[in-house]
Amino acid sequence: MNRKSATVPSPGVINRYFDRLPVGAATPIVTLGEGGTPLLLSDRLSKEADAEVWLKYEGLNPTGSFKDRGMTVAVSKAVEGDTRLVVCASTGNTSASAAAYSARAGIPCAVVVPKGGVAAGKLSQAVMHGARVFEIDATFDKALRIVTELAEGRQVTLVNSTNPFRLEGQKTAAFEVVEDLGRTPDIHIMPVGNAGNITAYWRGYREAVELGWSVGRPRMYGVQADGAAPIVRGRVVDQPRTIASAIRIGDPASRSGALEAAGDSGGSIVSVPDDAIVEAYHSVAREGVFVEPAAAASVAGLRHLSRSGLVPRGSTVVCVLTGHGLKDPEVALVHGLQPERVEPQVDALLERLQLA
Ligand SMILES: *Cc1c(COP(=O)(O)O)cnc(C)c1O
Repeated sequence: MNRKSATVPSPGVINRYFDRLPVGAATPIVTLGEGGTPLLLSDRLSKEADAEVWLKYEGLNPTGSFKDRGMTVAVSKAVEGDTRLVVCASTGNTSASAAAYSARAGIPCAVVVPKGGVAAGKLSQAVMHGARVFEIDATFDKALRIVTELAEGRQVTLVNSTNPFRLEGQKTAAFEVVEDLGRTPDIHIMPVGNAGNITAYWRGYREAVELGWSVGRPRMYGVQADGAAPIVRGRVVDQPRTIASAIRIGDPASRSGALEAAGDSGGSIVSVPDDAIVEAYHSVAREGVFVEPAAAASVAGLRHLSRSGLVPRGSTVVCVLTGHGLKDPEVALVHGLQPERVEPQVDALLERLQLA
């Protein structure tokens, strides 16, 4: 294992992990250089939790979320299979990623989104990459049922996380974590929406052991928002509500994968209130790491677990920061420090900065 490998520009996850992915010589590789994202030590959170806390900054993927790891594989396989159209339902990041990778491959893309439920940054990506964007007056869960039916029996590729190639690509993030740490973390914390990603990480960690890249497995913790916590509550949530739009999901497709990851690893699925998510959103931003609210759920989850005594002193913890802060500028502008008006003079600035 080469611990330096993550710091060189990524050749994309298919090139990097070719042997571990369901691709072959006939697969055209559609890549935007995804993967190879930084694993950053957080001094503040380490002190706070009395542990070693690492942030896997997935917002630095080409379209700003981890979805790219799965999309490179899903779209490459779609091209290999001569698809006519790529479709998805989305709370935003899947559509941004599907649109970009489809554009890269030169195939049409259509996305169905809940009207008003997608952050501006994400919508802007989908429209700029030339995807047809359809808005419906319904939830993500309904959108997913519609596109699933649409794709069935047609030469149309569904690229939601129910697409098995998506999860295969996404498991590579766990490979990178064990490579960069040089070991398996003790505790792994991440947001859970449709639950594909936690399923993928768990698969990745298990494969890393089978391959002899690491020993042992982390305890897996998934974090939902209180208002969108179908797994924690054990029932579908008809009208999921949370500021974290990327995990505003009431009927997760990969629920069983999440339960298996948490159950088999000795972890659990927990939920946190929106104000804890907003607090975490501020906290990582003040360390120079800008994430969207859903991503901050990991850190809110860490605090919750730490307070509950579930983070033993000195543990190695990885929090996945799933998406970039620029995805959701409206939330940032409401919650950040407000810009101040000042006269266009040095003196005025000196005074305001108390340097006069
Ligand atoms: C998609 C997404 C999630 C949720 O991932 P699932 O695989 O649906 O559980 C969390 N955060 C961000 C930023 C996302 O884009």
